[in-house]
Amino acid sequence: MDRLIRGERSKLMGKIRGRDTKIERALYDQLTKMGLEYQVRDIEGKPDYAHREAKVAVFIDGCFFHVCPEHCSIPKTNTGFWLKKFIRNSNRDLLVNAKLMASGWKVVRVWGHTVKKEPERALEIIGTIIKARMLIINIIGRVPAGGIDYL
Ligand SMILES: [Zn+2]
Repeated sequence: MDRLIRGERSKLMGKIRGRDTKIERALYDQLTKMGLEYQVRDIEGKPDYAHREAKVAVFIDGCFFHVCPEHCSIPKTNTGFWLKKFIRNSNRDLLVNAKLMASGWKVVRVWGHTVKKEPERALEIIGTIIKARMLIINIIGRVPAGGIDYL
């Protein structure tokens, strides 16, 4: 990467970004079609997507900042800074999960690598969760218990 001259590097980054933007756009289209709102400010933790009726909150967690066990490695420079940041981020995520679950929300945390590699699988699972919860709501007349899934 360091050997690439500036122009080549920005071209390469543009390609990577372009691909990610396409996936994110498709995800947005599908999730909003399923009735989820995007970037929900008034719900605990400001989920990336939320389905209010089914009480499903979806977070798209980047592998680096949210400390994915498969892809996050501690940088070799400024290690102390990054460790503190990772701990802070993890604690915040756990607190958000706990608060949402305590008020009956189903939390779905989708790793960045899942969004990139298996977006269809993530969409299918989220769709199933929403359908199942809506079915239960129709049968018992109230929102079922909260919980959490990592995809
Ligand atoms: Zn990952």
